[in-house]
Amino acid sequence: MCHIRYFHQSIVSFTRNLLIKNGCRSIHHSCKVLVVGGGTGGCSMAAKFANKFKDPNKVIIVEPNEIHYYQPLFTLIGGGIRSFEDSKRPMKDVLPQQAKWLQESVMSFEPEQNQITMSNGDTVQYDVLIIAMGLQLHWEKVPGLKEGLRDHTSQVCSIYGPETVVNVFSKISRTKDGTAVFTFPSGPVKCPGAPQKILYLAEEYFRKHNVRDNIKVVYNTALPVIFGVKKYADALWGVCKRRDITVNLQTNLVEINVAAREAVFQKLDKSNETFVQKYSLLHVCPPMGPPDVLKRHSSLTNDVGFLSVDPKTLRHTKYSNIYGIGDCTSTPNSKTMAAIAAQSKVLYKNINDDLAGKPMTMAYNGYSSCPLVTGYSKCILAEFDYNLQPLETFPVNQGREYFFTFLLKAYGFPLLYWHLMLRGHWDGPEFFRKYTNMIKKKEPSVKV
Ligand SMILES: Cc1cc2nc3c(=O)[nH]c(=O)nc-3n(C[C@H](O)[C@H](O)[C@H](O)COP(=O)(O)OP(=O)(O)OC[C@H]3O[C@@H](n4cnc5c(N)ncnc54)[C@H](O)[C@@H]3O)c2cc1C
Repeated sequence: MCHIRYFHQSIVSFTRNLLIKNGCRSIHHSCKVLVVGGGTGGCSMAAKFANKFKDPNKVIIVEPNEIHYYQPLFTLIGGGIRSFEDSKRPMKDVLPQQAKWLQESVMSFEPEQNQITMSNGDTVQYDVLIIAMGLQLHWEKVPGLKEGLRDHTSQVCSIYGPETVVNVFSKISRTKDGTAVFTFPSGPVKCPGAPQKILYLAEEYFRKHNVRDNIKVVYNTALPVIFGVKKYADALWGVCKRRDITVNLQTNLVEINVAAREAVFQKLDKSNETFVQKYSLLHVCPPMGPPDVLKRHSSLTNDVGFLSVDPKTLRHTKYSNIYGIGDCTSTPNSKTMAAIAAQSKVLYKNINDDLAGKPMTMAYNGYSSCPLVTGYSKCILAEFDYNLQPLETFPVNQGREYFFTFLLKAYGFPLLYWHLMLRGHWDGPEFFRKYTNMIKKKEPSVKV
């Protein structure tokens, strides 16, 4: 199959070059469903429609990257539990075979003409457009951060990028004393639990290697809470208290002095004061935001640049044939792969209803999940909805740490991702929840 696809792509590029030579500068593609972005959301949606139409001319995916990453594994790579190789696959192997992949970036959207233009000047005309462009990481917003990450001898690291995650474990393992600081930025981020997960892994690593007594472990978060859902926040405060982890709320990283190993933080309370923190390890979750190309199209976005969609139907608020999924949309859920699984079911049904001329009937309830790894064998599996109310799947109190949830995070979910979700066959655990909740006992709230 891969050979056929390579052959097909060679013909396409040969034809294109021929046309350019003869003065025809751009190619116009057209399709029924156009998917922008071949990450978690884009790949899952393209797979669903490719399975439906079984015709490569009906579904087009525009995605510039050669490699697809399973980003939830980055946390475990940082903790030395899984290898970097486990997190990646060639894009050509994960995108659906019965769809056409154009390996380019979208440079502009022309929603009035039902068209996008790509980096090579070619255009794609669509009936339905699904935008799944994820979040852009803003390493540049913290002066000193890029320099610190580039320098292998510095103790600055981050699990958030494929190019930075590979250095995290070595930096954790060479920390023997001083203050290990973990940060959470101001503004929306993907997997808001991840900066804490790497904190807990590092803390356990220090204990296992008998250096914990020499290291102060600090979590500085710009948020006013440790976690958005009270039930899990209570549990996490308990973990921090038991393990002597200092948590500073409303404390935002603003600058790093790599040579001096000092970080500057600003308090986001009334005082607004800044202070300097010496570190022996600095793990940074960078500021993030919607992709610049989206932000340039104000008719598509809300006032902070996210794709403006209805939080229930996931349809664009202005253009009825445009939909969004995943991290780049304005939906106020926690931005995770788990949320995308639930969204994909709603989106697929709603688009199909609309194509059939029927009213859209499905509504996304904001479901998201965050497997909060609290050590090398423990995990609190948070699941919740738009109202920040727990929406748990297993017949146990998921506010507690379990080994089985750790196994799911480390080994179960990756299998589910590669083999079901990216092939369009995983819509989240809602189906199972109906049955497991029948046997779930009401548990008392977790003791702090
Ligand atoms: C460290 C870390 C830990 C995480 N842990 C978890 C977890 O435990 N559980 C969980 O559920 N989730 C977790 N997540 C979050 C999860 O990985 C993301 O929410 C999810 O991958 C987002 O999917 P997406 O499709 O919205 O964006 P992405 O998967 O980021 O894909 C966006 C795609 O759009 C493409 N693109 C961008 N610009 C353009 C353009 N101009 N033209 C065409 N294509 C473009 C990009 O190349 C990219 O492939 C974690 C993330 C990180 C980083």
